[in-house]
Amino acid sequence: MFAQRTNLFKSSGTAAARAAAKAAADAGMEIVDLTAGEIWSDLAPTIQRGAIEAIGQGLNRYTDTLGTPDLREALARKVAVETGQLWRIDEIAVTSGAKQALFNVAMTLINPGDQVIIPAPYWTTFPAQVRIAGGTPVLVDTRANGYVPKIEDIERAITPLTRAIIINTPNNPTGAVYDAQTLKAIAQLAIKHDFWIIFDECYGSFIHGDRCHHPIVSLVPEVRGRTVIVNAFSKSLALTGWRIGYLAAPQDLISAVKALQSHTTSNPNVVAQYAVLHHLREGDGSFETRLHAQVAAARQLGLSVLGGLQHLSLPQAQGGFYFYLDLSDLLSPDALNDPPVSVDDVAAALLVRAGVAGVPGSAFGDPVGLRLSYGIPPDMLERGLTRLVHVLNTWN
Ligand code: PLP
Repeated sequence: MFAQRTNLFKSSGTAAARAAAKAAADAGMEIVDLTAGEIWSDLAPTIQRGAIEAIGQGLNRYTDTLGTPDLREALARKVAVETGQLWRIDEIAVTSGAKQALFNVAMTLINPGDQVIIPAPYWTTFPAQVRIAGGTPVLVDTRANGYVPKIEDIERAITPLTRAIIINTPNNPTGAVYDAQTLKAIAQLAIKHDFWIIFDECYGSFIHGDRCHHPIVSLVPEVRGRTVIVNAFSKSLALTGWRIGYLAAPQDLISAVKALQSHTTSNPNVVAQYAVLHHLREGDGSFETRLHAQVAAARQLGLSVLGGLQHLSLPQAQGGFYFYLDLSDLLSPDALNDPPVSVDDVAAALLVRAGVAGVPGSAFGDPVGLRLSYGIPPDMLERGLTRLVHVLNTWN
């Protein structure tokens, strides 16, 4: 009926979980919604002022397809600070969120039949975009290794058709932060086997404990010519609705992205571009510090409540703002399950029995995980997790 490519994707599992939570709330249940991929926060004052100024100036026209030169310049400086390397403006593209940045990359890099390695659990959109571009996702299971891929497993997944690997650190959904040694080894594999690295660091500003975020190009500069850095302000400034992302990549890839974007969305929203530019110029880092402190406090609170779990281990939550529970002990055939339950069953039961909505791992290519976002107000978080712990402790 419709184009065959509509069979390659369905609405994201995250959206489905969020819709189930909303339906339960609309039906009168008191729901604590832990499905959101965003942080509860007010707007940064610099973003507000920048947007108001842009409107006051009557900005209403298209900008350059890849964003205003001023914003690209400011982003080139940001990426330079983060990677310790110089970046030119023609190596930067501004996009409508990281999702469009990734889609641009998929469409300009992947040929039909190409394989793209994706560590699993993965952010639900990665394989969908690869398939839309005609490629084949090749999954590498990270569950036995703290959600960081083993280099031998990546090596085994490489074939002559391997075109790219998608690295997402800190990881959505697992919160894993890749160590420097793993990233260096991945970079060496990319050089040896001649494939690209798509490096999604959207959660790079949320690192907890003693971990560090390492941009892969700063660890192995030789890999820069085959690396695409994808980032956005959606998470780092709690600006999900404003849709400003960007990518940093070799100039010829940016040119291809420009041509593609000129036929799809043209420039990202002009007011949002100016607001982010204003923030990059005038921000003193205090908003980011406050947001980070809020997320860190929510993580501590959440971990202390989850410490009450009797049958499940505590999530590591090294980065981002997600707890990722491994429910395999609840789901295993010897866990009094008759008939066996799936993680979707557990998520559905938690909604009804605890009034708590999470995203089942099935949305992330994992049959035993459950993602809980802790980017919500602390009183709600504590209430929701307390109820969740009670239901999981008395599960059968
Ligand atoms: N990459 C990852 C890993 C994400 O989790 C998300 C959003 O959840 C995105 C990209 C997309 O971000 P944006 O809202 O900027 O499009």
